[in-house]
Order: sequence, then structure tokens, then C-alpha cells
Amino acid sequence: MDRVYNFSAGPSMLPLSVLEQAQRDLVCYPGAGCSVMEMSHRSHAYEAIISRAEDALRKLMQIPEDYAVLFLQGGASLQFSMVPMNLVKRGGTADYAVTGVFAKKALAEAKRWCCANAVSDGSLSGYTTIPNLTPDMLSPDASYLHITGNNTIYGTAYRTEPETNGIPLVADWSSAILSRVIDVNKYTLIYAGAQKNMGIAGVTVVILKKSAIPDEIDSVVPSMLQYKIMAETGSMYNTPPAFAIYVAGLVFQWVLDQGGVPALEKHNAEKAAILYSALDESKLFRPVTAKEFRSNMNVTFTLPDEKLTADFLRMAEERGLINIKGHRAVGGCRASIYNAMPTEGVVKLVECMRDFEKQVL
Ligand code: PMP
Repeated sequence: MDRVYNFSAGPSMLPLSVLEQAQRDLVCYPGAGCSVMEMSHRSHAYEAIISRAEDALRKLMQIPEDYAVLFLQGGASLQFSMVPMNLVKRGGTADYAVTGVFAKKALAEAKRWCCANAVSDGSLSGYTTIPNLTPDMLSPDASYLHITGNNTIYGTAYRTEPETNGIPLVADWSSAILSRVIDVNKYTLIYAGAQKNMGIAGVTVVILKKSAIPDEIDSVVPSMLQYKIMAETGSMYNTPPAFAIYVAGLVFQWVLDQGGVPALEKHNAEKAAILYSALDESKLFRPVTAKEFRSNMNVTFTLPDEKLTADFLRMAEERGLINIKGHRAVGGCRASIYNAMPTEGVVKLVECMRDFEKQVL
């Protein structure tokens, strides 16, 4: 069977060259005499793999020395808990901009720990917008403001960081990290699961200002959930998700080979423009989000009814264009066009949409 164009929201497409490299290394990693899956995470070979991955990510995102880079487990979802446990005292205050399901989940986890406020709630507009946050909307004593940079399910994204007037900014960039330039200096903490733009499920990257790591932490917080311990041990307090970090390293090298994040940002904008302009011109397909909030990673759209949606999805699948069904929470369609989706995949999707439209109108 030929490889398809996979529009899944994650896990999602990997660059073919990354898969081929992993395949070459799979049985016997060069110089190690065994696979990455079998090697000790304390070996020289593995130390080189994890430090190369960190160096490449630092280069790609221009991460300053006063930020730690951690490779953690538990998915982005565990960061919903780790962030408050480490950055706000128990019972303290933290602000959340609720722009989608994952932001809502992050807020719910924070509420277990502290007084977490929704400073904006997009559920009223079906999460189709991004709020224009201003400092007067924030709690004066908030330990941080949490935003979800790119909302995977709804296909919305922040264009710029909100002005917080000194309140530390924390962001979940799971579905857009490495797809566009993000100025790390504007954040106290950024986290992202790897399975969209950085490789495979199993590792979550956390980039955080070293000065924000607390020396003292509530003793109820498990060791595995303490940034301090993870930073001091180079993410190796226990066995790290070794293979996922290795794949992330290959993806980082691939991004460097593409010309880095600015080159991919340009490419992603071009790909998204092809799809959005087809949607804007169509008499059948409708984009879900308003122009100013559109994500270049997750493009959401609808057809007039469920039967037409199902017929279109079937036609797309027959053409090797898969996983375009929208998230179960919203229905409709969603094409996730992360870094590894080639322009050709987007062009084929647009062709399919036009052919379908001709058939039914
Ligand atoms: N945040 C965002 C923006 C996401 O898209 C996702 C997953 N799709 C998550 C968090 C949860 O990630 P994980 O499955 O790695 O816990």
C-alpha cells in the first residue's frame, strides 16, 4: 500500500526522510551495536542523542541559556497539572484564557490546586474566536496567565502574545510549535506534546525560565512532577521516553535542513492559504473560523449536512486523503496540515473538494 496524505490532528504525518532514518537505525544504531530502544539511557550513545536533540531545539527556537529544556512524559495533558503545581502556591491565583477543549481541561486541572480563573470563555462563541486579552482583564495577583497558542480542535490561533503587564505568560503550543516563529523570551513556560510537529507520542517538551523554577515546593508534589528535579537531572530522573526523544531529534534536524522555523512558517502560510482560499471561494464548503483567528495548522470547515460530509470524507479517503473528519466534539471536517504535510497533499485535497462540489451542485 502506498503512503497516504494523513491530515490527522495528531499523531500525524512525519517527514518521510525521518522515518527512513529511523528505519536505517532501527536494528543497529550506528556505533552502538543495538537499537535506540534497547540502549541504556545512561550510555554515551544515548547521552549524545538527547543532548543533540536539545541543542537542535535550542537553535531552532533560539532558546536562551537562562531557559531549561525538558523532555517529559505524560503528554501535554500532564502539564495541565505540572504547571500550577510548580508555578503557583497551593491556593494561590492563576488566570486561564479558555479558547477550547484543551484550555478548559488545563483550567480544570489547575482548579484542583489553586484558585484558577477563566479570564475569557470562548464557549459562548463555540470557540471560533481568540480573545483580545488586555492587562485589566487579568487578576492582579495571578502567578501566570495560561493560553493555548493554537486550538487544535477549533482551528484558531493567537497571532501575537497578549500583553500581560508583567504577569508571566505560560502557553500550550502543542499544535503549532516549530510551525512559526515563537519568541521564547515572551514566555515563562512553553509546553508541547511531540506528536504533531516534533515526532511521536510519548515525549512532551517543556521550555521554562530557570528563574521560575521554585526552590521550595509543596511536599505533596510527587518527584516526577517537579520541574526542579527534572531540570537538575537533565530529564533523566528516571528512564526517559528514549525512542520518542530520538525521533524528536531527527525531526529537529529535518527542520534545520528545511531552513529552520522561518522557512517552515512561510511554507505553512502558503499551504494554509491554498486551502483557506478554496474554502472562501466555495459554494459548498464553509470555513468555520473568522479570518483573523485562523490557524495555519488545523483548518476546520463544514458541509451543509451530515450526509454530504460523510460522502465527501469517503471520496477523500478513496483518493488517499485520510483523517479529515472533524473532532467528535464539533463534527464537520478538519484538515491538519502540520510541518510534514507537503504542499502536494493540500493541493490534492483542494482538487478533491472542487471535484466533489462539481458532483453535487
Ligand atoms: N493541548 C493541545 C493544544 C492539544 O492539541 C492536545 C492534544 N491533541 C493536548 C493538549 C493534549 O495532548 P496529549 O494527548 O499529549 O496529552
